[in-house]
Amino acid sequence: MTEKELYKRALKDWGKEPQMMQVIEEMAELTKEILKNINRKKENIAELVEETADVEIMLGQLKCCYGIEQKVADYKAEKIKMIAKRLEDFEKGNK
Ligand SMILES: [Mg+2]
Repeated sequence: MTEKELYKRALKDWGKEPQMMQVIEEMAELTKEILKNINRKKENIAELVEETADVEIMLGQLKCCYGIEQKVADYKAEKIKMIAKRLEDFEKGNK
């Protein structure tokens, strides 16, 4: 079973609304672990790994749910180019 097939199955079996609420829950859990790491200097790499994976899985379901995989990939590619350009400009300005 591919990842996409699994996401489709999860959406079909468990429903769109619960799965989209799960996206929000997992993002909140990742947010909490980032805050613990930065604000409280906590050694929580294992938790960051777990919550990052959870968010990636749920973002896969979100993209599948709305059928926006290609649009996200295209936008992301453009955004990465823009960030690379900004970094070049920033680094030139700092020399
Ligand atoms: Mg989680």
